[in-house]
Order: sequence, then structure tokens, then C-alpha cells
Amino acid sequence: MIDQYKRDINYLRISVTDRCNLRCQYCVPKEGFSLIGHDDILRYEEIIRVVMIAVKMGIKKVRITGGEPLVRRGVIDFIATLNLIEGIEDISLTTNGILLEEAAERLSAAGIRRINISLDSLDPEKYSRITRGGDIHAVLRGIQKVHEMGFSPIKINIVAIKGFNDDEVLKFAELTLDKPYQIRFIELMPLGFAGMENLGKFLSNDLIKEEIGRHYELEPLEGDRGKSDGPADMCQIRGGAGKIGFISPVSHHFCHSCNRLRLTADGHLRACLLLDDEIDLRGPLRTGCTNRDLEALLRAAVEKKPVGHQINGEERHMKKCLKEMTSIGG
Ligand code: SAM
Repeated sequence: MIDQYKRDINYLRISVTDRCNLRCQYCVPKEGFSLIGHDDILRYEEIIRVVMIAVKMGIKKVRITGGEPLVRRGVIDFIATLNLIEGIEDISLTTNGILLEEAAERLSAAGIRRINISLDSLDPEKYSRITRGGDIHAVLRGIQKVHEMGFSPIKINIVAIKGFNDDEVLKFAELTLDKPYQIRFIELMPLGFAGMENLGKFLSNDLIKEEIGRHYELEPLEGDRGKSDGPADMCQIRGGAGKIGFISPVSHHFCHSCNRLRLTADGHLRACLLLDDEIDLRGPLRTGCTNRDLEALLRAAVEKKPVGHQINGEERHMKKCLKEMTSIGG
């Protein structure tokens, strides 16, 4: 599927739920928010139908996300079924890692070898604070387990937050000295309910890179963009076992190479993470649409992809992304 700006759209990110077992301060309000009703969440068989069509149209890579995907009942069997669809070259998972230790064996059997784990602090008290009660030890056990099982790559995603984890940048980077992990710093985006607050806590990846560069020699790596490293600008500490990635959706847009479509938990196709302009699939799926109709809707979503998003850390653009990350799927 080639869009009007000649980008090959071959990557589908699927949010299987908006529920989460954490309440990260920049992502979910303290009191929670009105969750999508059970009936309004896309059923697995509906997602599979969409994926089968999308794959015929050129989607090759699928990522399962949420909310927290591992809290949705049956998700691992669903992944195993997805894995049987001919034409999918890669299935990966984004998780907060809380349930990873117990899920790892079954995930592996279902065909997951590549995993992204979110971890915004290495300090147990700070981790508990930012996630409102999360147990870092569960996440660390999960990471250790998938490492021992040979998952690769293991990507650890850190959302950089001014005044919260800027003092941990080096510690995170140093994890790559002897572990083959990819440590990826992600810029905080002004999305949803926390948009304004996030704007004030924005920390540019240029500053993080500079800080690491003051202590270690950072060698740029030739990124495998769109495949394994995605939109990350990849580096390595000289002699390190792992890699460091910088994902900078705010300070350095990578829209020109964006190859993604998103399927939200409530069954909408979203052409750009940062634009609330979606196409409803759930309605048509539940009122007897044909595969041809679905193809047309997928094509329409690809046509909707903008040349780029407008978020650049300025307040005046905030109104454009009101939907919460948990239902879009980060
Ligand atoms: N529960 C899973 C997890 O924690 O990885 C998957 C869903 S979560 C929404 C996906 C990623 O989005 C997480 O790494 C989270 O930190 C990130 N995220 C959430 N809100 C964000 C924001 N406003 N800016 C940047 N990243 C954000």
C-alpha cells in the first residue's frame, strides 16, 4: 500500500485493549477514565479478519500493543493464530513487563521473539511513583527471563521526563555496556488528558544524547529503519554489548519514513498517531461488510496519512490529539 507521499505502508500496530494494570502519570489519569465497553472492543476474530485482508494488501509487520496487551484474556492464543497468517513476516509485542515473566514461555511458543518493554525508571520507588503502584521487580524478572530465553531484540523503552528521570539517563545507557539490550529514549508527546502537563515535562533527545556523550564515546550505527530499529536513531557506546536508540517524534519528526497504520482497541483505523482522524471498521464489521468493503476502508485510511504531524512541543497544536494513548496503542 503506497500512500500519496510514496511511503510504503507495511506495518500495522494493533491495540487489543485500552485496559492497563498500571496508571502511568503521563498516560492515564489517577482516577482512570471511562474505559471502552466490552462490546465495543474489537473481538479477536474481527481483528484477524482485518489483518488477513491487510496482509494481502501489503502489511508485513504487526505489533500487538494496548493498554497492556497481556491483561486481555486469550491474547497469547490470539497471537499464535495471527502467526499462522501467511504473509506476516514479523509479529512483536509492546508490554509494561509486569506479567511478562509468567507469559514468556507461552509467548515464545506463540511465535513472539521480539519484544519492547516500557521502563521509565530503574529506581523501585520512582518506578512505583510514575506507574502509581507498579512493582519494578516484576518487570526486571520479566526482562531477565526473556533475555535467558534468547528473545531478540529486547528493546527497553524509556519515556524521557524532565524532572523525573533525566538523572537516570546514564544508568540506562550503561545497561548496554554488558547486556545486548536496545535502550530507547522516547520523547514525551503531548497527548490526551495529560497533554498540557506533558508539554511542560518535555525533554529533548538531543540533550540526552549530549549527556551520554559527555561520559562515553557514542558511535552512530547505520539504522535498520522500518525493520528492526524502526524510527530510532541508533548509536552504541564504543565496545558496548547493546545499542542505544533515540526516538524523537517531537524534536525530529520521522514522518517521511512512517510506514504505519494503527488499529485502535475500539476498532478504528488511525492513519497517524498524532491526528484524531480515524476510520471506523467496527461498525462495518458488525453490519455485514464484505472483504472488498474492508479493503476500501483500509485504502481510505492509507489515503488519510498526512505528510507529517504538527506536534512540535507548542501548545497551539495540542487540540489535534485528544484520544488517549491507551486506546490508540502506543
Ligand atoms: N502497556 C504497554 C506498555 O507499557 O508498553 C503498551 C502500551 S503503552 C501506551 C506504549 C508506550 O507508550 C509505553 O512505552 C508508554 O510509555 C508510551 N507512552 C504513553 N504515553 C506517552 C506519551 N504521551 N508520550 C510518549 N510515550 C508515551
